[in-house]
Amino acid sequence: MTYVYDDQNIFAKILRGEIPNDTVLETEHTLAFRDIQPQAPVHVLVIPKGPYVCYDHFARDASDAEIVDFTRSGGEVCKREGVQENGYRIISNAGEAGVQEVPHLHIHVLGGRGLGRMLQPAP
Ligand code: 5GP
Repeated sequence: MTYVYDDQNIFAKILRGEIPNDTVLETEHTLAFRDIQPQAPVHVLVIPKGPYVCYDHFARDASDAEIVDFTRSGGEVCKREGVQENGYRIISNAGEAGVQEVPHLHIHVLGGRGLGRMLQPAP
């Protein structure tokens, strides 16, 4: 698989500071910020700072340090946002079938209300 990273995507612009964001957490390799169109009371996007298109790209090419930092940051966001007790959902959309809008790896951390079943029936 060849991954082509578009450095004009909106999250790349956020990482370069060209577009503002509501930051929840920033570490050496990871940024977490609130989704601009929240789907739940808690809706935080967690992204690596490196140029990875999607989860499988990151899993293949990221360093161990990036992967550890990203994973721990997701957990820290759950803690800071207070969703550990009542639960939450993490989603990472990829590609066309996954309906990925922004081609820079991100996980959605969703919580703060009952989230229903995982998937809706296909239209
Ligand atoms: P995807 O469909 O790629 O998994 O999700 C992309 C997410 O990025 C969407 O939930 C969308 O609301 C969010 N988003 C798109 N543009 C911006 C932006 O400029 N700022 C922030 N904070 N979120 C954005």
